[in-house]
Formats: sequence, structure tokens, C-alpha cells
Amino acid sequence: MSNTELERLSTLALRQRKAHLLRALAFPPDALHASFLERFLKCGRPNCHCRTGEKHGPFFYLSRCLPKRQMRTLLLKEQSQILHACHGVQAYQQLLESLDQLSWINWELLRRGDPLQAE
Ligand SMILES: [Zn+2]
Repeated sequence: MSNTELERLSTLALRQRKAHLLRALAFPPDALHASFLERFLKCGRPNCHCRTGEKHGPFFYLSRCLPKRQMRTLLLKEQSQILHACHGVQAYQQLLESLDQLSWINWELLRRGDPLQAE
């Protein structure tokens, strides 16, 4: 729900959404702050089919940006690694979205001059 949609809700509805979010907010133990990437690649062999046609892959990676334009990348080799990585990245994103939604509700309550926590 966007910020402008939140503006149209009653304060009671905002507080109910907030209570629901707080009940649902649990830190996912498998959370991964990273990007899940799928890549098809060319190898170095000069006469390989990947030069002109079908590339190799898919290969799955986790990657994460670090300060100073550095990047940390992890090649996922096992099927179980790929699944766990995929779930972990989604869990982290879901948590971030819930936190962001909570923050917008608090923003809207503050704009109305209401306390952030119900008394
Ligand atoms: Zn090749």
C-alpha cells in the first residue's frame, strides 16, 4: 500500500494495519541480504558451441555490493544451496517491505499529529 493510499485510511484502520504488521513481523532466520542471480556464460574454449550458439548454464550466484565498488559473489553449486539462497533472499526482501510499510504508517500517524503508539 502506497503512502497516498495510507493517507485515505482512518486512524483506526492505520492502527489496525500497524498491529497486524507487528504481529506478523518475525525476523526470518534464513534471511539473506544479497541478490540472487541466474547467468548463462561463454567459456574460454575457442571452438565451443557457446561462441556462436547456446551458452553454458544456468549458473546461480549470490552477490552483494560492498563499499568502494567491491562485490562479494558466491557461486551456488548444490541444488539445496540454490533453494536456500532463493528463499533467504525473498525472506529478507519481505522483511524489508514489512518494515517499510510500518514506517509509512508511522509517517502518516505523525503527519496527523497522532502518537506513534496507541495509548
Ligand atoms: Zn563453451
